[in-house]
Amino acid sequence: MGRICVFPNCSSKMTRWTPRSFHRLPLRNQDLLKLWLVALKIDVNTPVRTLRLADHRVCSDHFDRDDYCQSNRKRRPTPKHFFLKKTAVPRRQSFLLKRKILVI
Ligand SMILES: [Zn+2]
Repeated sequence: MGRICVFPNCSSKMTRWTPRSFHRLPLRNQDLLKLWLVALKIDVNTPVRTLRLADHRVCSDHFDRDDYCQSNRKRRPTPKHFFLKKTAVPRRQSFLLKRKILVI
């Protein structure tokens, strides 16, 4: 079963072969969570319990390269998996999209 990115107007599917990574909402960080909900156009008063049940995901298209940090060297490296920084908030436009526009 495939999940779809919850970001408005994004229809990226979470599949095994997708080059994107999918991130859960920062449910433990209230301040950051609010910023995410605003960006995702979800009611900021939605109870965390409801959000947890919904288990929304946001695809990596809405983050910049700078929003990621590489996995801890001591741990086993996971090639596809970069960790989102604790301050990262999804943006309206994909950076890949922006890059395409710049190329044109
Ligand atoms: Zn997306």
